[in-house]
Amino acid sequence: AKPIVAIVGRPNVGKSTLFNRLAGKRIAIIEDTPGVTRDRIYCESEWLGHKFTLIDTGGIEPESEDIILQQMRKQAEIAIETSDVILFMVDGKEGLTPADTEVAEMLRKTRKPVVLVVNKVDNLNLEANAFEFYNLGIGDPVTISASSGLGLGDMLDEIIKHF
Ligand code: GDP
Ligand code: MG
Repeated sequence: AKPIVAIVGRPNVGKSTLFNRLAGKRIAIIEDTPGVTRDRIYCESEWLGHKFTLIDTGGIEPESEDIILQQMRKQAEIAIETSDVILFMVDGKEGLTPADTEVAEMLRKTRKPVVLVVNKVDNLNLEANAFEFYNLGIGDPVTISASSGLGLGDMLDEIIKHF
C-alpha cells in the first residue's frame, strides 16, 4: 500500500496551501461519517518516484480557542492512527504557541516519524525564526514557504526517507 502522510497543525499555518501545492490528483472528501472524518481531504502525490497519499486533517477550521485545541487533539489522534509519516506544521511568522506545544507532546508519544515543518519562511532572513521550534523536542525543523514553494524539495526528501 502507498504510504500515508498526514498534515497536522494549527488553523492558518498553511496546511491547505501546502496540500494544494502537492496535490496531483485531488480526491474530494471521501467519508460521510459525521464528525472528524468529514474534515479530512485526501490527494495522491509523488516525489522522486515515491507515490504517497496526503491527508489535510484540518478541513474545517474552527474559530474559538478551546474548540481549536479540541480539534487539534482529534487531528493528531487521526494522524497518529492512520498515517505512516506525520507532517507537523507550525508558523514561522507567528512563532511558537501553546497549542503547538500541546500537539507536540501528543506526537512525541507515537513511534511514527514526525517531520517538523516551519512554514511562512518566505526568505532567508526569516530562517532564524525556526530556532525556537527546537524547544518542541521533536527534532530539527525544516523551513518552507508553502506559498512560494521555497524549501519544498528538502522537505519532501525528509518525508520520503521514512517510507
Ligand atoms: P490552514 O488553515 O493551515 O489550512 O492554512 P491555509 O493554507 O488556509 O493558509 C492560511 C493563510 O496563510 C493564508 O492566508 C495563506 O495564504 C497564508 N500562507 C500559507 N502559506 C504561506 C507562506 O508560505 N507564506 C506566507 N507569507 N503566507 C502563507
Ligand atoms: Mg486548511
